[in-house]
Amino acid sequence: MRTPKRLYAQQRLIYQPELLTCPHCGDLLVMCNYLAWNKTVQTLGGVLSVASRPGRCPHETCAGSRLRLLSAAAQRIALPHATYGYDVLVRIGWWRSQHHATYREMHAELASHVRISVAHVSYLYQQVSLPLLACHERQHRDRLAQIAKAQGGLILALDGLAPEGGEPQLWFMRERTSGLTLRSGWLSQQDHTTFEAFLQPLTQLEWPILAVLSDKQTGLMPAVTKVLPKSRYQFCQAHYLRHLAEPLAEADSACKVDLRKAVRQQVGDVIRNEPRATPAPIGVLTVTGLLPSPIGPPPAPLAREAQSPPPSASPAATGPEADEIVTSLFRHTRYLLTLKGRPPFRLAGLETYERLDHVARVRLALVAERYAPRLAQLSQGLQSALSPCAATSQALQQGAAWLRDIAYI
Ligand SMILES: [Zn+2]
Repeated sequence: MRTPKRLYAQQRLIYQPELLTCPHCGDLLVMCNYLAWNKTVQTLGGVLSVASRPGRCPHETCAGSRLRLLSAAAQRIALPHATYGYDVLVRIGWWRSQHHATYREMHAELASHVRISVAHVSYLYQQVSLPLLACHERQHRDRLAQIAKAQGGLILALDGLAPEGGEPQLWFMRERTSGLTLRSGWLSQQDHTTFEAFLQPLTQLEWPILAVLSDKQTGLMPAVTKVLPKSRYQFCQAHYLRHLAEPLAEADSACKVDLRKAVRQQVGDVIRNEPRATPAPIGVLTVTGLLPSPIGPPPAPLAREAQSPPPSASPAATGPEADEIVTSLFRHTRYLLTLKGRPPFRLAGLETYERLDHVARVRLALVAERYAPRLAQLSQGLQSALSPCAATSQALQQGAAWLRDIAYI
C-alpha cells in the first residue's frame, strides 16, 4: 500500500466565534480549551491548516453554557469533513457548466493548484457541487409559488444529457418560465418504470402541472401520461426548428467550407508560421517514462482563448512581446477556422465569417500602429478571402433572422 504524500500547509488559521457575548444572558463568552475541528484544506490559493475553537457562556445555569458557538468565517472555507475549499468546488462547477469541460480537462487545470485525481474531480462535481446547486434551487420555492399562481400551474421541460463514457444519463425537469430545476438525477436506465419513478414526486406538488415538454424518448411519453394524466404534452420545439433550418444549415455549411479553403489559400502559410521565442522541442509531448523530460508551464486553456477577443497591442510592445501578440492572433485565426455549428441557431459558416471579419479589422488597427509586415499580409489576405463570401453571408444572416422570428412566434 502506498502512503499518501503529506500536504504542507502554508498557513495555520485558528478561528474563534465572531459572536463575543452569550445570546441568552449577554455575558462575555469564554473559549473552550479544545478545537471543534482541525483539518488541512486545499484551496486554489494554497494549502491551509484550519481549526475552529468554540466559545461558550461561562455561567453553568445559563442555557448558553450548553451551546458551542463556532466561527461563521471558518465554515465558509470548506464543507464539514471536506478537505477541498469551496473555491475549488465553484471552479469545477463553473468549468463544467460554462465551458463543458471534461473531468480530464478540469483535472489538468486544477493540478497546478491542488493535489487531486481525475476520479476525485468527478466525485466533487457529482456528489458535492451538484447537490449544493440543488440546495440553492430549493431556496426559490416562493418564486415557484408566485409563478404557479400567476399561470394557474407549472409548465415543465424534461430532458436528459448524453453521458460521458458509459455513465448513467443525467435527467432534469425545469420550470419553463423561471428556468428553475425541479428535479435532477442520474437514471441508470431509460424506460417506462424509471421515468415514472422520476416523475412521481410531481404529484405531491400543490400546484397543477399544465404542460410538459420533452423529446420523443421511448417510454417517456407513456410515463408522463400515467403520472400526469391531466397535463398537456408537447414535443421539443428545437426539433421542429432544426428541421426547418435544414436548408439554411446546408447553405451555411457549404459557405464554411468555401471560406476555410479561401482563408487557407490566402493566409495559410502565414498563420502556420509561428514565431518561436524558445528553442523548446515543441513537437515532443512525452514527459514521463524512463527518461522523463521536464514539465513546462501548462498550456493556456482552449476555452479561454475561444472566449477572449485577440489582445490588442500596447504601443510599448517590442521584440518578444510583439511576437507574443502576433502569435496569439495567429492562434486565434486558426481557432476560428475550426468553429463548429449547432443548427438551428448556431451557424458555423456565418459565425466564422463574422469573427474573421472582426479579426481582419482588429489587425488593420494593429498594422497601422506597428507596421508589422506579417500582420499586413494577414489582414489583406483575410479580406481577400472574405470578400467573395460577403453576399452569401448576408443571405445567411437574413435566413438566421427569419429563423429567430419563427422561433419567437
Ligand atoms: Zn449565558
